[in-house]
Amino acid sequence: MIIDVHGHYTTAPPALAAWRDQQIRSLTDPSVSADPKDLNISDDDLRASIANNQLAFMDARGVDWQIFSPRANFMAHHIGDFSTSSTWAAICNELCYRVTTMFPDRFMAAAMLPQSPGVDPKTCVSEIDRCVNEYNMVAINLNPDPSGGSFSSPPLTDKWWYPIYEKMAEYDIPAMVHVSTACNPAFHTTGSYYISGDTVAFMQFLTGDLFKDFPTIKFVIPHGGGAVPYHYGRYRGLAIEMKQPPIPEHLFGNVYFDTCVYHQAGVDLLTSVIPVENVLFASEMIGAVTCIDPETGHYFDDTKRYVMAASLTNDQRDKIFEQNARKVYPRINSIIDAK
Ligand SMILES: [Zn+2]
Repeated sequence: MIIDVHGHYTTAPPALAAWRDQQIRSLTDPSVSADPKDLNISDDDLRASIANNQLAFMDARGVDWQIFSPRANFMAHHIGDFSTSSTWAAICNELCYRVTTMFPDRFMAAAMLPQSPGVDPKTCVSEIDRCVNEYNMVAINLNPDPSGGSFSSPPLTDKWWYPIYEKMAEYDIPAMVHVSTACNPAFHTTGSYYISGDTVAFMQFLTGDLFKDFPTIKFVIPHGGGAVPYHYGRYRGLAIEMKQPPIPEHLFGNVYFDTCVYHQAGVDLLTSVIPVENVLFASEMIGAVTCIDPETGHYFDDTKRYVMAASLTNDQRDKIFEQNARKVYPRINSIIDAK
């Protein structure tokens, strides 16, 4: 079985973006309404937006399941205030939930949080409760930088974030650490800001001692862990100099990496540097890079090809494709095994 732990609803019907534009306009123009009731996306439109895109690729590539969350660069937590993010998150999460009900043997959902810069993360708790209890979601996406590029929040190891971690522990749901659109022009959203967010998060975990307080919670650092696998010697050395335990003991019971690295040499590096027990298959398909690699003739985001071609045993490949996801996302087991 092959489980892709990193998919987003990048192909939502255009009405969704139009509603968001209206919401953003309403922030500065009181004559513009931003009522969620103004957004109507039919089941047929929703079904077509998946069947002709993510599902078609999953079928063509032989992927059984995808953990599916709202479009990451649409989260844009820096826009408006908590109320803005709260309404927007509720809409986006409900759409992902509807996708899981239409394709119940192919998609499971992860929640976007209603984060807002400087706002206490405990305000996200009720949306986590709703998404787990009403929508049976299996994970959350946690934005370490809701400011959209100034990294003004405390490090992820700070007690500031603990209300979210308490919920992760209670429900046994992991968080994918995932920034959103960069509003800092120094950053390209998917080219540099995403990879920076991933790298920053890993270094925060390395520096802190979060997992003494929360020994069971798990984080997935996407996009192959940013710069971490390539610079692993740097992080090992820094851990020694900071008198932190060795990385495997300090972090590898709680921190995982996905395979959203869009070339063979990158996946070879990832799977040779990071223990295969900490690598989860993912594609982030129809996301950051949607074109075909002229050198291979295949889509850059067809990451299954790289995992298949990497120097791995069948047992190691099974861990990356299925077993590690079952371990890191425990709530998927009852959904998958019921089918
Ligand atoms: Zn993503």
